[in-house]
This record gives sequence, C-alpha cells and structure tokens, in this order.
Amino acid sequence: SVVTRFAPSPTGFLHIGGARTALFNWLYARGRGGKMLLRIEDTDRERSTEPAIAAIIDGLTWLGLDWDGDTVFQFARAARHREVAEQLLAAGRAYRCYASQEELAAMREEARREGRTKLYDGRWRDRAASEAPEGVAPVIRLRAPLTGETVVNDEVQGRVVWQNENLDDLVLLRSDGTPTYMLAVVVDDHDMGVTHVIRGDDHLTNAARQTQIYQALDWAVPSMAHIPLIHGADGAKLSKRHGALGVDAYRALGYLPIALRNYLVRLGWSHGDQEIFSTEEMVKAFDLAQIGRGASRFDFAKLESLNGHYIRQTGDVELTKILEDSLPFLQGGPEMAAKLTPERRAQLIAAMPGLKERAKTLVDLLTSAHFLFADRPIPLDEKAASLLTPDARDVLVAATAALSATPDWQTAPLEAAVRAVAETRGIKLGAVAQPLRAALTGRATSPGIFDVLTVLGREESLGRLQDASA
Ligand code: GLU
Repeated sequence: SVVTRFAPSPTGFLHIGGARTALFNWLYARGRGGKMLLRIEDTDRERSTEPAIAAIIDGLTWLGLDWDGDTVFQFARAARHREVAEQLLAAGRAYRCYASQEELAAMREEARREGRTKLYDGRWRDRAASEAPEGVAPVIRLRAPLTGETVVNDEVQGRVVWQNENLDDLVLLRSDGTPTYMLAVVVDDHDMGVTHVIRGDDHLTNAARQTQIYQALDWAVPSMAHIPLIHGADGAKLSKRHGALGVDAYRALGYLPIALRNYLVRLGWSHGDQEIFSTEEMVKAFDLAQIGRGASRFDFAKLESLNGHYIRQTGDVELTKILEDSLPFLQGGPEMAAKLTPERRAQLIAAMPGLKERAKTLVDLLTSAHFLFADRPIPLDEKAASLLTPDARDVLVAATAALSATPDWQTAPLEAAVRAVAETRGIKLGAVAQPLRAALTGRATSPGIFDVLTVLGREESLGRLQDASA
C-alpha cells in the first residue's frame, strides 16, 4: 500500500511551497488508504533549529495535515546511514577516496576549463587500500556506473535520462564519518517503506543520484513525482514579495486552513475546471497525473477570494468560534482577546451576517467588528471626529431623541425613525447616518448602521450617542 512522506529541512519556517508539497503527499496517501510519514531532515546541524521544527509541526497541524506514526529525525539515524555506506563498501559498490582538498579543487578547475559537469576524475576508484596515505581520513564514494544511462520515470516529468559519464561518483560518507544528504534520504526512504516520493522539482537531479544509490543497494526505487515550483504572479521565482511567507504568516493574516488547502491544491494540480474543493473531494480526486509540468503562479487575489468564500460559507456561531480561537495568532487579535466578554461574543455572533459579507480574511472581520470592542466613551478616529461638526451634532441630538422614542429596537423601526429625522430636516439619509456611524463606531466606515444599532442594543447605542453629542 501507498506510503508517502514529507521531509522538510528545519532551516526556516514552513513556507508555502513546502506546505503544498506536504498537502500533495497527504492527499495522495489519504486517497489511497495509505500513510503519510513526517521526516525532519536535520542533518545540517548548523542550520537546523528547534524553532523551525516547531514551526513545521505547528504549520502542518494548523493546516489539518496529519501524519502517521512517530516523526522521524534524520540526524538520529546517522549510525544506520554509516552502516549502509560500509555495506556498499564491503560489496565493492563504493570505495574510499583519499583525494585532498587541493586535488579536488584542481579537478574542479580542470572540469570547468573543459566544460565537463563531472568534477571528480575517479582517481581512487580502483586503487588498492595499501596505497592509502598515512593519517588522511577518507570519504566514501559511490562506485557509480561509468557508461550507460540513469533513468528516472517521473510521474510528472516523464522519462528523464542522464548520461552516466556526466555523473560524479558521489560522496556517501564524509571524512568525519557523517552521511551526506543523498545517502541519508535513500536509506531513510527505504527503511521507512516509502513507495512514493513527491517533492519539488528542484530535487530532480538528486533523483538521478539517489537512483544510482538504490541500484547499488539492489533496492527498489520508489515512484517519483517532481512538482514544478511555485512562481510569483509575474512569473519570477517566488519570493517574499510574492507571498512566499511562512504558513504562520497566512494564519496571522486571517486565512482559514480550509481556504489555504483549497488554494494550494490548485497550485499545479487541476481537476477539470473545478476551483472549490471540500477536503473530501480533494482526497478523492487528487492524482499525480493531473499535475502540470509548468510552474504555477501564486495569486494573492485568488487566495483572498477563496478565503472570502469560506468565510461566507461558515455558520455565524462556528465562524465566531474560529475567530475567537484565532485571536492569539491574528494581527490585532491578542488585544481583542482580552476584551471578548460573553456579552460581546453574543454581539459578535449577532453581527456576523453583516460582517462576513464583506470580509476576505479574519482580520477584515476583526477590523469591522472593532466597534463592538470599544468601551465608553469610545475613541473617535480622526475621520470620525471630523464628521461631528456642530451641525452634525445637532442632527445627532435629534436622531438620538427619535431613536430613544422607538419602542421596538429592531432594524426596521430604527430605520424608519432615522428616515423620519432626515425628512423632517429636509436632508439626505446619509447626513444622518454618517454622524450616527461616527458616534456609534468611532470610525467613518462600518457595517450597516442599522445593524450596528441592533447589535449594540438600546442602552449601549443611546449611551454612545449621548457621549458624542455632549
Ligand atoms: N529536505 C529536503 C528539502 O527540504 C527534501 C528532501 C526530499 O523530499 O527528498 O528540500
């Protein structure tokens, strides 16, 4: 049965490309009753960090991508990697190389001059152990085939062929006894029973080298699928400016995991022209055959519109719960969290239908729900303050009187009362609504003013109006 793995190097946050790779591996496994494993490739001791490991695990968890079994840490398996290198040595499929740094530099220089991609000339391939220089710690190199081809039958890239004469005898074990990345990946994938390697196409050349190691070990090569990288909307390699942020940044910006999953699955994969996928639909439909060969383009507007879709689709109570749970991570959220009393939570739920109509992110929701979290007398921003001219205050006094005389505090009668004030004074509705908005929300823009009135309730509304007209 199918076993996939996500194998990030914990050298930074879980970026959007990594998240997509994880999602594809997860979908492929889940759709086939298989397993997805997680392997942290922490062999680079200098660059691997604990916070990066935590960010990867948090990011996957937040995205709803679970993995099977224990997390595997690659560095902890170094003894096993060494053992396999020794095994290759014993079988004659690898050899000790004593070339010095100076010799290697000279070989590289010569290769460059002659335009060869092969950098090492194989000088220790066939030398006897007795020739080994005193006191030099050797590396172990693969005795790679000198002729013929190495072929990767990639599920996405098709049949990719390398001429062996262009491939180096790669180093498996460094002179300090540490395994190279190339060896570690092969041994781990094999030992973990990985059947499908799905990863970015920046690893395609590695696939050829790893294939040679598999062959030297007489191990079955797993299926490979190298996914084209994600580019920015302008076609250039994805950078921060394009949205190459950590998954945690998308969380802080107020994206829902379900929206991000839906967005990511369409980055490079298609299923007819369907754009919206429930997780179940994705799991069912996902396959490697429909991954395109061209780079996909990151499109913030599309992500936003998907997010808006999922926000509108989520029920008011559930959305309020999601918003509340997200507050610690959201831009501007922590301050709100402290103010979220049960009463305000109830108001938030009541305001949700109006709030979510226009929101693209949870941050948008929070911004327009701002008026709920203010304490009397509420602060007015500059624009709101400038709306409250002496004339406007006059209107506000009349409107306050009309509203307080409205027995039924509901949208329709409140609206009728405000309209009557405008008519009596021969002014437009907006000339009443704008001062009301400023006084009730402290801002010049807000959700519909009659919704604001009903959500705040009679007492709080009239109190704020009195504060502002005083
Ligand atoms: N650790 C590698 C990376 O983060 C991935 C290795 C692999 O998937 O084989 O790019």
